[in-house]
Amino acid sequence: MTNPQVKFFVDFDGTITLRDVGAQFFIEYGDKDKVWDIIRRIRNLEMTAAEGWSALFSTLNSITEQELSDFVLNFEIDDTFPSFLNYISDKNFEIYVVSDGFDFYIERILNREGITNLPYFSNSLIFSGGADKPVPHFPYKDEECRKCAFCKRNKVIELSSDDDITVYIGNGSSDVCAAQYCDYIFAKDTLLKYCETNRITYYPFDDFGQVINKLEKILNKKRVKKSNQAALKRKSLYMQG
Ligand SMILES: [Mg+2]
Repeated sequence: MTNPQVKFFVDFDGTITLRDVGAQFFIEYGDKDKVWDIIRRIRNLEMTAAEGWSALFSTLNSITEQELSDFVLNFEIDDTFPSFLNYISDKNFEIYVVSDGFDFYIERILNREGITNLPYFSNSLIFSGGADKPVPHFPYKDEECRKCAFCKRNKVIELSSDDDITVYIGNGSSDVCAAQYCDYIFAKDTLLKYCETNRITYYPFDDFGQVINKLEKILNKKRVKKSNQAALKRKSLYMQG
C-alpha cells in the first residue's frame, strides 16, 4: 500500500480566475440569443454538456488564434493563489487542476503568472489550419453522463486512492459531483448552494488565502479525518463497476 497523501483538486474558472473565462467568451463573441438558448437547453439536459459546448462554438463569428489569445489574457487570477501553491509545495501536498473549460486559456493564463509546473486536466480547443474558429474536443467525457463535458469525478477517482486525504476546491455545477468524492470541500457560488441544500459538509471561501487559514487550523488541531460520505460515494461507484 502506498503512503496516504494529501491531494487537492481545484477548479479553474471562477475559482483560480476571478471570473468565468469560458462563459464570458461566448457573451463577448457569440450570438447572444443563440447562446442563451443553448445554455437553457444544457441546463434542462436537452443536450449533453459536450454537445452544448460544440453548439456554443458554432455560434461564434470567425476569430483568430491571436484574437482569442488576447481576449483570454484579460482575465485575472485570485492574487492569493500563488501563495497557496507555495503552501502546497512546502507541505509536499499534491495538486491537480480539473476544468470543464479549455486548455487554450488555462495554459496562457498560468504561463502569464509564471506558473509552469501545475498539472491540469481540461477539455481542449484546437485551431486547425484554415478554420475560422476553434473546435472543442472532449478527451475526458464520461459516456454515461450528460451533465459535464469533462468528468471531474473520474479524474478524482483515477488520481487518488481511498487512503488519500482528498480536498476539493471549486465554485460551479461541474464541481458538484466530483466534490462529493473528496474528504474536504471548499466551496463558493453554485457549489456552495448545492452543499447547503443537500446538507453536505463544506467550508465556504472567497479566496485561497482563506483556504490556507482554514487548512492551518485543521492541521494544527491534528483533526484530519476521512469523510464517511465520500467513502460511501466511492464504494457505490466501485460497485457499479
Ligand atoms: Mg468554476
